[in-house]
Amino acid sequence: MSTEPRTITLATSDHGDVTLLEPAWCTGHSHHDPEMLRADLIHTGPLAECVYLGRDLLAAEIVQSPFATPSAPELGGPTAGVSVFPLGKTLSPVQLYDLAAALDGYADRLRDMADQLDRIPDGGEQ
Ligand SMILES: [Zn+2]
Repeated sequence: MSTEPRTITLATSDHGDVTLLEPAWCTGHSHHDPEMLRADLIHTGPLAECVYLGRDLLAAEIVQSPFATPSAPELGGPTAGVSVFPLGKTLSPVQLYDLAAALDGYADRLRDMADQLDRIPDGGEQ
């Protein structure tokens, strides 16, 4: 196995061919659009989805835009983050742990409601 850093060269409309270091977690650039601006180049990791009854509830993926300007940090940038849908924000590790804690709390509330529903005699039918 090579110890050389992995690189990828991508065409851009404003800077021609741009060579990037390819992080190990990046799933590749098979959908790259050569008309893309250099600032819009993005590394993307595998998608982690939460789907229930065929509906997409939540999805998250590691992202990094090496040439993005930090004008809107919540939209991602040169520092890797986790992009969360439908939240529409890129989260830091601390924010991602906070989201996970909020989801844990919500799961507890759902279990409490299921317990409460179980205790309603005859499902509440008269
Ligand atoms: Zn990449």
